[in-house]
Order: sequence, then C-alpha cells, then structure tokens
Amino acid sequence: MNKNAKIVIVDDEEANVRLLERILELAGYNNFKSSTNGRRAFELFNEFHPDLVLTDLHMPEMDGFGLITELRQVISKQDYLPIIVLTADVTQETRRRALSAGANDFLIKPFDHMEVVLRIGNALQTRALQIQLQEQNATLEENVRNRTMELERALEALKAAQRELVKQERLRALGTMAGGIAHDFNNSLASILGYSELLLHDLDHLPKKEKAAAHLRTIMTAAGDAARMVARLREFSKPSQPTEFLEGVDLNSLVEQAISLSMPKWKSDALAAGLTIRINQDFSKIPLVPGDAAELREALINLIFNAVDAMPSGGEITLRTSAHTDAVWLEVQDTGIGMSEEVRQRCLEPYFTTKGMRGTGLGLSMVYAIIHRHAGLVEIESELGRGTTFILKLPFVANFVQSQIPKRTNFIRPLRILVVDDQPLLCNLLYECLSNDRHAVETACNGREGLEKFRAGRFDLVLTDKAMPEMDGDQLAAAIKQINPSQRIILITGYCEYSPGTRSDAIDLVVGKPVSMDALRQALSVVLAE
Ligand code: ADP
Ligand code: MG
Repeated sequence: MNKNAKIVIVDDEEANVRLLERILELAGYNNFKSSTNGRRAFELFNEFHPDLVLTDLHMPEMDGFGLITELRQVISKQDYLPIIVLTADVTQETRRRALSAGANDFLIKPFDHMEVVLRIGNALQTRALQIQLQEQNATLEENVRNRTMELERALEALKAAQRELVKQERLRALGTMAGGIAHDFNNSLASILGYSELLLHDLDHLPKKEKAAAHLRTIMTAAGDAARMVARLREFSKPSQPTEFLEGVDLNSLVEQAISLSMPKWKSDALAAGLTIRINQDFSKIPLVPGDAAELREALINLIFNAVDAMPSGGEITLRTSAHTDAVWLEVQDTGIGMSEEVRQRCLEPYFTTKGMRGTGLGLSMVYAIIHRHAGLVEIESELGRGTTFILKLPFVANFVQSQIPKRTNFIRPLRILVVDDQPLLCNLLYECLSNDRHAVETACNGREGLEKFRAGRFDLVLTDKAMPEMDGDQLAAAIKQINPSQRIILITGYCEYSPGTRSDAIDLVVGKPVSMDALRQALSVVLAE
C-alpha cells in the first residue's frame, strides 16, 4: 500500500479533522492536507493534486455536494479520483444525492477506525490500478501506432518491389518471345540476302542483266531493312548485363544527328498538319559515353517521335545534355499533353500505348532496353497538360580511351574450309559463296558428320551453325578442339545469347545471322590473322 498517497481532508468540525489525521498517521500515511472549509478544499485540490478526497457533507459556504460537483467538473473522465463522503446523515436521500454528485464511498460518523483505514486503502488501491491500466493502455496504443506505421511502410515497399518485378517480368517475357521470332525470321533472311548476293555475282548467266540487277538490289534492301528490324526485336532478349562498349559516343553530336534524322516527322509532317514544333538544343560540355551510337540514336529518335505525338497542337522540344558526377544526362523535354501517374508508371511496358491503333507501345520499352544495356537509367517527369521530360542517365568512364576495333578486309588466300549446317539451303549457300572466293569447301549436314569429315581431312577453318539436332555447334567445336587445340572455328548463330564478336573457349569468333559475304570475309581475315 502506498503510504505516500496524497490525501485531502475537509470537515467544518476541527475535531473531526484532527481525529482523521490521527487515524491516518497511525495507519502510516504521511502526506495529507486538511481544511475546515469547502471553498478552501477546492483550492487545495488544485495546488496539491491529491489521490483521495475525504469530505464532510454539511459545511457552510460550500457544502460537500457542491465541492464534489465542482471537483467532478474539473477532473477529466479518465482520471479516477476517489471521493469518500464523511457523514452522520445516513438517510437514503442524502446518500443518493452524494452518489449522483460523484461520491464513491461513505464513512459514517462516529468513525470506526478500522473501517476508515480499510476503506481508504481500498479506494487508493483502485486508483493505483486505474493509473496502471491507463499507462498500459497508452503504451499499447503507442505500440499499435508504431506497428501500423511500420506495416504501412513495409506494404508500400512491397508494392513498389512488386511493381518493379512485374515490369521486369513483362520485359523478360517479351524478350524470350522476340528471341524466338528473331531466330526463325533470320533463317529466311539469310537465304534472301545470300542468294541475292550470289545472283548479282553471277549476272552473266542471266538474261536482261540490268533489270534483274535492279530487282535483286531491291530484294537486298528489303532484306537488309528486315534484318535491322529483327536486330531491333533482338534488343529485348539481349542478356541484361550491360555490355562492354568499345566505342565512345559524343551525345551532343548524336542529338544533332537524331534531330536531322527525325526532321520529316517534326518538321514536314507537322507543317502539313498546320502546326509548328520548335526544337531547342541546350548542350553542355560533356565527356564521351561508352556505348553503341546506333542504338542510342534510335532511343533518342523514339523519344522525339513520342514528344511530337504528345503535342497535337504544336509546341517545343528541348534536347539538353549535362555532365554530372558519374553520369551524363540527356533530357528530352516537351510541352505536350503530359501523362497521368498511371501512364507514367506503365509507359515503359512493352505493348502499352494510349494511341490505340496508331501506337505499338514498343518504343519506350526499346528505349528502356537500350539504356539498361548501357547500364543507364530512364527517369520520367510528367505533368498532365504541362509536358513530359525523359531523362536518360548514362554512366561514363573518366578518360575513356577510344579503342580501335580491328577491321581487316585484306586479300584472303584460298583456304580449306569445312562448313557444317543442318539446313541444306544455308549450307549450300555458304558453299557457293566461299567457292566463289576460290576456297576449297567441304560441307556436312550435322555435327556428327562434321566431326567425321574433320577427322578425315585437314582444314584451315571450320564454319559451323549453332543450333543443330544431336550435336550442336558448341559441342562440335569442343570435340574438334580436343583433337586439335589450334583449329580455327567460327560459329554462326541467330540466337542472342552470344553477342557477335565474342568468343568462348572452343570458338574463335561468333558471327550473327544473317551473314553477308562481306561480313564473312571480314570474319575469316580476323580469325586467320591471329
Ligand atoms: P507508342 O508511342 O507506340 O504508344 P511508346 O512505348 O513509345 O509506345 O509509348 C507508350 C506510351 O507512353 C504512349 O502511348 C503515351 O501514352 C506515353 N508517352 C510516351 N512518351 C510520351 C510523352 N512525351 N508525352 C506524353 N505521353 C507519352
Ligand atoms: Mg512511341
């Protein structure tokens, strides 16, 4: 029991006050104040903040009922202050009035000492428990608030992570699909391109030379365009690790090129539609960025096209470059219609478009793939009705040194070449092309036959397709290198897991499909020069 509890005693009879003080002292309480006046007791309450009030009912000036009523008005509902009434008046009427004014208990005069001590003890214990409960509630509420905040934060983080995941998954799925299309489509392109070249070479055997040549050139152009289209589709499935770029790109001149390449769209088309689009250049002095100029140019042209689409009644496009600590920023800003937050979140997704049949929804996902491959970031700021800014952040290397990619197209002496391809058409094409260049060519239509022919003969070079049933190009190459570690091997592939130009243990050079005769000659000279 807390003997330090603060107690206020009010009784207009001095003797009663003394008696109660005496009882409390004997019971061990040491912290009480008393008064013989109701008004004074109310002031005491404000100064002393007691844990318990003992009050007489019948007093002059302010009686017990009045004191209790006033006390209950200033005490907050949550604060449990026990008030015990001291009275000789035990009528039911008096008790009811006291209780309804806010009294908690009664002590009947004359006092039974024991009862006084026990009732006071009870009242103080109830108060102590009440306070304890309130403190616990407060901590509990605080805990719940903190937990809720934590949970809300966790949920937000989770949602963000999920959005990112969904985005990546969509891009990945499209990549797989595009990889497949790229491969199949490429095989037919390889034939078109190769046979056209061959026919051009053999024009003497054809009637009406010039006409045939013109047609053939058109075929080649179309095939070349289609090949570039596939190359673009292939962007999606390129390995997501950033490639190491050898070329340093000057983004300022890249922007100038992109502006002139997209001129038909932003100038002529716009003029024809009766609107004006101004293009501003805001260049800073920036370092070279290691990258692929053609890809970056394409990304930029895509952004310019989108900006033009976003300004159906004309406006301004600003192309800005600036150097930052570890990246060069390339901004494409328009004064167009802007994007809603939902569109801003989703616009990088493949096939997401708000242009209906006029859009493919592939432009920005391409931009994303290209910048991602350059280890860069795409950021988008947009405000409905105000315009959009795309910020491409491309990392640069301090003091980037332009390295020279060896280009050799010198004369190549006649070689003994083994060609392995499971597609008769492509196999034959390679045979014809290489024979035309006076090489001695043998062909095999699968990996196993290729290995047999290799064992039986001597070759300067093996040229093998990658995807073949039973034994694929990689396995064949490995088997050959076991027999002759210095054997030169070129792998031709339409798949994307190798980027052309790379090499693995067993393969000296990877060449991407479709292969033009020029590319093949260059590959031969590179491999044999080493
Ligand atoms: P498409 O242009 O074929 O619709 P994109 O991938 O290039 O596909 O763009 C996707 C969507 O992003 C567009 O349909 C458009 O809603 C939005 N968008 C892209 N660029 C802008 C821009 N500069 N201003 C406003 N919206 C844009
Ligand atoms: Mg677009």
